[in-house]
Amino acid sequence: MKISTRLKLAEIISLSIVVVIAVILLSTTLQMKQEIAKNEAADELFQAVTSLRYLTLEYALRHDERTRAQWQLRSTSLSKLLDSTEEFTKSTDKVVLTELKRTNGNIEKLFSLLVSNHQELLREQDKAEILEELETRLLGQITNKTQAMISDTLSLSEQSRVGALNAQQSAFNAVILFGGIVVLVVTATIYVTLRSVTRPLEKLREGIAKVGAGNLNFTLGFKAQDEIGDLARAFDSMTEKLKLTTVSRDALVDINEALQVEIIERQQIEKKAQAQLARLNLLHQITRSIGERQDLRSIFQVVIRSLEDHLPVDFSCVCLYNQTQNQLVVTSVGLHSESLAQELGMTQGTHIDIDENGLSRCVRGHLVYEADISGVNYPFPRRLANGGLRGLVLAPLRAEATIFGVLVVAKRDAHCFNSGECEFLRQLSEHVALASNQAQLYGALQQAYDDLRQTQQSVMQQERLRALGQMASGIAHDINNAISPVALYTESLLETEKNISVKGRNYLQVIARAIDDVAATVARMREFYRQRAPQLTLTPVNVNNLVQQVIDLTRARWSDMPQQRGIVITVQTELMPDLPEIMGVHGEIREALTNLIFNAVDAMPEGGILTLRTRVAENLLESTKEIILKQVHIEVSDTGVGMSEDIRRRCLEPFFTTKGERGTGLGLAMVYGMIERHSANIEILTEINQGTTMRLSFLVPTVMNDVVKTPLTVGIPTHRRILVVDDDPMVLKSLRDILEIDGHSVISADGGQAGIDSFNDAHGSEEPFSVVITDLGMPYVDGRRLANSIKQLSPSTPIIMLTGWGQRLVDDGETPSHVDCVLSKPPKLSELREALRKIL
Ligand code: ADP
Ligand code: MG
Repeated sequence: MKISTRLKLAEIISLSIVVVIAVILLSTTLQMKQEIAKNEAADELFQAVTSLRYLTLEYALRHDERTRAQWQLRSTSLSKLLDSTEEFTKSTDKVVLTELKRTNGNIEKLFSLLVSNHQELLREQDKAEILEELETRLLGQITNKTQAMISDTLSLSEQSRVGALNAQQSAFNAVILFGGIVVLVVTATIYVTLRSVTRPLEKLREGIAKVGAGNLNFTLGFKAQDEIGDLARAFDSMTEKLKLTTVSRDALVDINEALQVEIIERQQIEKKAQAQLARLNLLHQITRSIGERQDLRSIFQVVIRSLEDHLPVDFSCVCLYNQTQNQLVVTSVGLHSESLAQELGMTQGTHIDIDENGLSRCVRGHLVYEADISGVNYPFPRRLANGGLRGLVLAPLRAEATIFGVLVVAKRDAHCFNSGECEFLRQLSEHVALASNQAQLYGALQQAYDDLRQTQQSVMQQERLRALGQMASGIAHDINNAISPVALYTESLLETEKNISVKGRNYLQVIARAIDDVAATVARMREFYRQRAPQLTLTPVNVNNLVQQVIDLTRARWSDMPQQRGIVITVQTELMPDLPEIMGVHGEIREALTNLIFNAVDAMPEGGILTLRTRVAENLLESTKEIILKQVHIEVSDTGVGMSEDIRRRCLEPFFTTKGERGTGLGLAMVYGMIERHSANIEILTEINQGTTMRLSFLVPTVMNDVVKTPLTVGIPTHRRILVVDDDPMVLKSLRDILEIDGHSVISADGGQAGIDSFNDAHGSEEPFSVVITDLGMPYVDGRRLANSIKQLSPSTPIIMLTGWGQRLVDDGETPSHVDCVLSKPPKLSELREALRKIL
């Protein structure tokens, strides 16, 4: 049963008992009240009876009227009292009351007898004695009767008193009884309730303590259907739920322990990460600062200094690896490591052999870490150990696949490099290697860029000169075309016309000289751009001899002429003995040197020193030290005015001169032409007011070409059938005329197509052409196409090509394969004859 129900029941019982008590109390109170009323009524009756007795006695004494009246009144009120009394309900009381009424009635009768007796006495004195006797008797009877009434009233009073006492007693009893019952019920209820509450509550308290301590396996398991049972079941289900949602204390302890371990691990990891971060920062810092540097040594210095200051290490240096000698060369030593390096004999430049020092692993690309080198037996670690060093790391510097150096770091304590630091050093060495590689690449790139710029400048120069050359060549072509007939006719006239007057001959000779001069100027103009004629053979030239010759040839210019003006020019020679010969055209080189000497003399109007120098310059291949280029340098130096940058740039151009009327501007242009034809090189080293050095560099051939001697001239062919093709009628006519003088039969064709037609016609006939002479530049069908057609028809027919373009055919690579000989305009009779002789 539920506790509340129990309590309610107890309450109801108690309440009903209280109600019963109240009812009992009420009824006893009413009873008591009744008894008290009875008692009062009895008292009243008693007093009335006593006062009636007293009045009776008083009347008996005095016999006065007033007392009798009083008695009458009293008796009446007593009667009324007896009649009106309703308090006495009990049968016994009623009997007593009835007795009282009857007695009272008797007494009234007796009193009336008394009164009448007295009155009779008064009237009948005689009968006094009897009457008195009667009176006494009556009085005695009345007194007895009143006495009986008094007893009755007293008994009534006594009875009411007893009744009241009884009521009081029964009320008391009832109160005691029911109060006891209430107390019993309450006590029993409390006891039972407490019994059913305290123990489970105690168990619940224990359970709470256990569950609170984390033992979620604990259950109360109460079966009771009361509130405690409900609470216990709620508690159990709570524990069950807690079990599902939380973990037990033991598990918590385990988890906590695991967490503690994890925290420690994490702290360690964080510490490592901090160190790693610091190293990364350092790496970043170093990388950034080496990124800003371009030369190896400063890169190495930055790295070493950073390691000394920030890692920090006690000794640090970078060694470069010489693969051929299998040695390390100490290249950079840290500032703080300097004294130690001296002590260890590892100053800058020290060579360290690899094999015997156990360094081979490192130069094979492995990072070497020795925790304590005091126990290592190789000389290199021992050398470091002697300096008090213990921990050693050797990090290879690798560029692409090759190791080019080693970063050496060491500390005084053993086991002091952790894996993080080793990794850091490995990464650092990679960065350093990369930066070094980049620095080298940058250097190479810079060099290449400089070379390229120089090349670009010289290409531009060449292009300019080439354009000028083409222009000059064009002009030369036109002039040559124009003067060709004049030259041919003049020569022919002088040779053939024997009857010409002396004056005429003189004029012709002047004309011929003038033509020669014009041709010479044009030739010189063309010189600087002319390419080496294929038939012009290079011969070995002894440069020292040549220089001597030129000095002698130009003596007038550097010695006599200045002396006349009181100026002294000293000529010095610095000729290298046993100078190798070069391949070249003797005359051209001589002419070039002559021009250079003239210019040098011109540059020293106040006198000075003219030096001619010869020497061999050898370019070696870095790696193999093998000679890849051997050159002979010929230098012409003066201590003259020098050239400004602008003049230096332009001096090779034809017609460029700073000498006004005196100069032609063709001297250096010719030198340049010669240089080009000899595949040589010219350098101009000049400084204003300091002097100029013109340096010509000729390649020394590895194998001397066979000397080709020009064959001697023998009989000139005559009486051949020759086809001459040219679009210029003047040239055509003059050629025809002079060839006919030599007895040839000449057919001329006016243009390429006409030439092909004439040749075709003659080819099938009995008189084919023995040779074809053609101009190169003709409209529609030019010399090249003509030669092609002819050779297709008759491959054996030789073709001579005339050109006002000089040797441009050759350098443009345009020489038609079918052309046997190229002659420049204006053709000299002798050259023409020589060409004919050669090809026929
Ligand atoms: P030219 O001698 O007729 O002037 P060049 O072609 O020989 O023509 O020389 C061109 C210019 O180069 C000269 O006018 C002179 O300004 C300059 N030059 C040549 N050689 C020297 C030199 N040795 N010292 C100073 N200037 C020189
Ligand atoms: Mg000159």
